[in-house]
Amino acid sequence: MKPALIVHGGCGTPPKEEEADRFAACERAADAGWAVLSGGGSALDAVEAAVRRLEDEPILNAGTGAYLQADGVARLDASIMGDDGRAGAVAQVPNLKNPVRLARWLLEQDAHVMLSGREALELATRLGHATGPVATPSKIDYWRDHLDEACRTLDYPAMAALWKQENPRRLGTVGCVAIDAAGRLAAATSTGGTGQCYPGRIGDTPVIGAGTFATPRAAVSMTGVGERILVRLSARRLCDLVELGRSLEDAAAQVIREQDEIAGAAGLIAVDADGRLHEACNTPFMATARRS
Ligand code: ASP
Repeated sequence: MKPALIVHGGCGTPPKEEEADRFAACERAADAGWAVLSGGGSALDAVEAAVRRLEDEPILNAGTGAYLQADGVARLDASIMGDDGRAGAVAQVPNLKNPVRLARWLLEQDAHVMLSGREALELATRLGHATGPVATPSKIDYWRDHLDEACRTLDYPAMAALWKQENPRRLGTVGCVAIDAAGRLAAATSTGGTGQCYPGRIGDTPVIGAGTFATPRAAVSMTGVGERILVRLSARRLCDLVELGRSLEDAAAQVIREQDEIAGAAGLIAVDADGRLHEACNTPFMATARRS
């Protein structure tokens, strides 16, 4: 099998002047993943390497550079899955530079799938993973500039009303899917969420089947409005459609159509067992990069 991978740096409507930098960040991450795959490494190692690189890119909304929640804290979500059904995920972890690394550690333990919050950070610290502030000056400024009365007072109903009106959304999750020389598939996704949201809000990214899914037939990483992707379990849905015999392109188009039906801004990257790579979105922009 010829190895291949594709990474994304999130869908949405970022400022025009940021588009080139977002593509460049994806290219660097694709190089990191490709160094693993082209050296005979596994799809799991490749998606982890690529997503760790994306988490280190301050322009993207994952790891360093994550958006802050309404209370001014960045809490991180990430997940990773291999085609053998093993998966790991972390939710709402503050101050962790590479949440996908902890998700991968959980996958390797093959016991619990998802860990959250302070306890997850404590484990990462024990394991020697890099910890510390992930909020960049520009994301702190962004939080301050958008700190309206609802967020300042943590007025939950008012925050919900504003969130529903918001367009364009703060997006920019990252992800990678890959197939290795042995034909194994894997997917990983990482995010700082939508920003200015309820403290503790969890989107699709750490939920296996929603933001990330992999089977021997297909692997998927989603980006977009997590609440919409969650209720449709979009990553799992795409894999099920491929399992039923639909092409990757058809399955992706259907998943995006199903997001359109519920006004979900969404994007995805996917790979199938034949090594085909595919990307789709219903937003004006999604940064990606490929290697094969
Ligand atoms: N899906 C992510 C979330 O809702 C956001 C994104 O894709 O940018 O947490």
